[in-house]
Amino acid sequence: MEKECSQCKQIRDELCFYTNKDGKFGLTSKCKDCIQYNARLRRRGLYISKGRKGINRAEKNGMWRGDGVKYSGLHLWIKSHLKKPDCCQGCGEKTSKLDLANISQEYKRELNDWEWLCRRCHMNKDGRTGNLLVGKVKRRDLLV
Ligand SMILES: [Zn+2]
Ligand SMILES: [Zn+2]
Repeated sequence: MEKECSQCKQIRDELCFYTNKDGKFGLTSKCKDCIQYNARLRRRGLYISKGRKGINRAEKNGMWRGDGVKYSGLHLWIKSHLKKPDCCQGCGEKTSKLDLANISQEYKRELNDWEWLCRRCHMNKDGRTGNLLVGKVKRRDLLV
């Protein structure tokens, strides 16, 4: 029996097709050569079919996740390289409750752009750079 391949349109012997119980005549609609060719393209990421929308969406999600990983990765890197001290590097108070604070707000991958601060110093510092909280912070700075 001979059959036409739906991709290359060649009339080929049934031996050139894979068996597929759901397909016409119990064979795949595409010949083995075309199926293998498609598989090669797919492996290289060149095969574009109906699922294109889904692929784009996945890429977007991947990018978003990538940014998150980049930030937490930096945080982890600093944490493992900048040894946590016994006391706050802002006020010198001895405490175990220290937060890693960024100095320039640019989140540089440099150890001298980071410091360990107690909760109070960290809040003061963040407050100073946040314009919306200026009024509140001024009062808090007076209390401190
Ligand atoms: Zn074919
Ligand atoms: Zn402090």
